[in-house]
Amino acid sequence: MKCPKCAALLSPLTTADVILDKCHSCDGIWLDYGELKKLRESGTQGIEQELENQFGNPAAPMQNLDGYLRCPSCEDSGLRTIYVSYVKPVRVDRCPSCYGMWLEKNELDTLLLDKQQLDNIKVEKSLKDLLVGLVKKLR
Ligand SMILES: [Zn+2]
Ligand SMILES: [Zn+2]
Repeated sequence: MKCPKCAALLSPLTTADVILDKCHSCDGIWLDYGELKKLRESGTQGIEQELENQFGNPAAPMQNLDGYLRCPSCEDSGLRTIYVSYVKPVRVDRCPSCYGMWLEKNELDTLLLDKQQLDNIKVEKSLKDLLVGLVKKLR
């Protein structure tokens, strides 16, 4: 598969039982449908940071590459910009036919961190409910 942004070849990498396709030239990541969910549920953090430690940080692309992105998997499908929002909205490009996702630099780590924050909020909320319940019982 080719990078939808800079046309370099994507390299498949396995992280937390998910094979993601990484562009070593512009630092983007392609995730097939369902892979983001798997990564978020695995609780893995800082995948991009880890990859950067392993492969280094590519030089910034020379020209402005923001154009019309095509799905690396379906090819004739154009990617659409959507906002994935749990705690804080993150802008990603998604393919409307295969639901694959193109994540630019830092977007994956942001989405993983967001999952952790969401879990923390849930825990805080259930603790709060528990305390409120206890206080009611004591009265
Ligand atoms: Zn690229
Ligand atoms: Zn597609």
